[in-house]
Amino acid sequence: MTGKSILVVEDEEDILDLISYNLKQAGFSIVAVGSGEEALEVASEEAPSLVLLDLMLPGIDGLEVCRLLKGNAETKHIPVLMLTARTEEVDRIVGLELGADDYLTKPFSPRELVLRVRAILRRAQPAEEVSDECFRVGPLMVDPIGHRVQVGREEIELTATEFRLLLTLAERRGRVQSREELLNVVWGYEHSGYRRTVDTHVRRLREKLREAADCVETVRGVGYRFRREER
Ligand code: CA
Repeated sequence: MTGKSILVVEDEEDILDLISYNLKQAGFSIVAVGSGEEALEVASEEAPSLVLLDLMLPGIDGLEVCRLLKGNAETKHIPVLMLTARTEEVDRIVGLELGADDYLTKPFSPRELVLRVRAILRRAQPAEEVSDECFRVGPLMVDPIGHRVQVGREEIELTATEFRLLLTLAERRGRVQSREELLNVVWGYEHSGYRRTVDTHVRRLREKLREAADCVETVRGVGYRFRREER
């Protein structure tokens, strides 16, 4: 991942220093700014690989910066990782409304930060590089092309929908996905009238995955997330 640049937007200097130090140690180059206005300018001029965006900023706040970045053709492809101390904002951050790619709640560990950044950058790679490969998480093995799932040595029978649900979660590993997003991607629904459908399918999927069931994590009040390999 060396050579990737990260735009860090944070007005609190001690947090900014901590973040910058740890990301530099991990091999990233850092551009740091202290306001939303500067963030918008630098994001379109320098096209960073990722924007690490604090929610609480003087002037334009992080939510608005995210909305503007995602609404601009020049910058909308840049992944945004939001930092927030306000858990009540999490719903809006990860929802379709703002388009942030993930969030971290303050206080967070430097290790968690680096893992999250790497995960987002991996996902930001063109889909064909990752989506066709077999992958393993713990006892679980998934073969997207062969349409096969194994837990340990045993072949698991999944319905087409369960398989699509598993793949969708896995392809966006580490990222929380709301029930609405899953309904949209897996079922093709455009409204959220069937949220229980998601819960029901996740429950059945977990039952079938048995000892690998914990790959699918519930994020209370938000949705589901596929566990990252790193622990
Ligand atoms: Ca702040």
